[in-house]
Amino acid sequence: MDPRLRSAAEAARGFMPPDEGLALYEAALLVAQGASPMLEIGSYCGKSAVYLGAAAQARDTVLFALDHHRGSEENQPGWEWHEPDLVDPEVGRIDTLPRFRRTVHDAGLEPNVVAIVGDSPTVGSRWRIELSLLFIDGGHGSEPAHRDYELWTPWVESGGLLAIHDVFPDPADGGRPPYEIYCRALESGHFDEVSATGSLRLLRRV
Ligand code: SAH
Ligand code: MG
Repeated sequence: MDPRLRSAAEAARGFMPPDEGLALYEAALLVAQGASPMLEIGSYCGKSAVYLGAAAQARDTVLFALDHHRGSEENQPGWEWHEPDLVDPEVGRIDTLPRFRRTVHDAGLEPNVVAIVGDSPTVGSRWRIELSLLFIDGGHGSEPAHRDYELWTPWVESGGLLAIHDVFPDPADGGRPPYEIYCRALESGHFDEVSATGSLRLLRRV
């Protein structure tokens, strides 16, 4: 990975350890040149978008970065992953969109990273574009995670990749829903496991 983009990704705020980010980048590079675009659910301040956007740039394709930018449950005030400076004081709600824009701009990835600002099911129920890679890292509650699985995985093209973040086989390490949808993908018979790096799982559509 271009050292400049790599340091931009590492400096960006968010929840993507460097080894998992690099694994995501490398997986995204394997997708064929000229293949369908990629999409991530859950962009926050743009950290994973730099890893995936760097691959999109190298492959001359596009990453759609979907987020309502209001934060997940665990980002809200009083929860474990709340960052108070991300609250828009006039609106009284989290707004990660300005940070996201700045991250993507500073990385020079605006041509390859296209933000979609909205609620995942609202967009997903109207989506009609096949994807060469889908990265699921949005709401981690049971309902949001399973809905993302149901609405978005049908758009992964044959041979395309499904990446799921925060998969913890041991309940002591974290919440269940990302692990449950990972199991669902394997049990569906539509996906084979490619690799695991930390809590990142990569699967390929058969
Ligand atoms: N990939 C990011 C971390 C994502 S955190 C990184 O690399 O740092 C999870 C994100 O999912 C939050 O920004 C939150 O706003 C978003 N999210 C949660 N539920 C969502 C929904 N229903 N629609 C759109 N975005 C959602
Ligand atoms: Mg995550």
